[in-house]
Amino acid sequence: MKIIMLGAPGAGKGTQAKMIAEKYGIPHISTGDIFRANIKNGTELGMKAKSFMDKGELVPDELTVSMLLDRVGKPDCKDGYVLDGFPRTIPQAEELDKALSGRNEEIDFAVDVDVPDENIVKRMSGRRACLKCGATYHMEHIPPRKEGVCDSCGSELVLRDDDKAETVQKRLQVYHEQTQPLIEFYTRKGILKTVDGTQDMKDVFGAIVGILG
Ligand code: ADP
Ligand code: ADP
Ligand code: ZN
Repeated sequence: MKIIMLGAPGAGKGTQAKMIAEKYGIPHISTGDIFRANIKNGTELGMKAKSFMDKGELVPDELTVSMLLDRVGKPDCKDGYVLDGFPRTIPQAEELDKALSGRNEEIDFAVDVDVPDENIVKRMSGRRACLKCGATYHMEHIPPRKEGVCDSCGSELVLRDDDKAETVQKRLQVYHEQTQPLIEFYTRKGILKTVDGTQDMKDVFGAIVGILG
């Protein structure tokens, strides 16, 4: 099963994608996590990506698409995957389609986790991330067992640089301009499914499982 997660920054894509990956036994592929791993390791790709990410802008399609297609070509992706944070532009979606149809494959579901902008700003200021394993928490809604420490791997949790309020506003603007058109794109293809992302994390997951089967 091949699934795309759509939704504003902070809508809960990553949180749900992790649960989907676990339940269905498929890899969770987050382009944001791959970029952050590259930044941490000081790669050339990481250095290029960082300048855009820090401003709340998208990393250019040329860099993002080749990285993602490389990842979905790996053997662990042969039975499917859940994409979190990709595609984020119409050209990215078209490139993905082209690559998949070349292999006689297609995306099964595009799940839109719908959360209004007002809720997003609150979610982001409370988000704490583990840069080692990609787990995310929320100081109020989804706290780690021990404050400031990742439940999964024991690393320190941080407020991402791009989760500061000014950058979040910019990211929301970029989302509306460049990413939201994908809702129409996948609606036309007949695979868009919308879930109410303002519900409790478990209820959002229940709705998604109801769709995926
Ligand atoms: P969020 O969890 O808020 O949705 P991500 O971790 O997915 O954020 O992405 C963080 C940043 O990484 C984005 O603001 C953008 O700069 C960059 N990025 C991630 N995925 C993509 C993509 N598909 N295209 C362009 N830039 C991306
Ligand atoms: P995205 O990947 O879309 O940027 P995340 O999954 O990282 O979003 O979630 C953003 C923040 O909101 C995190 O702090 C996360 O713990 C929290 N969160 C996720 N789902 C919910 C939910 N259903 N209710 C409240 N907070 C949530
Ligand atoms: Zn961790």
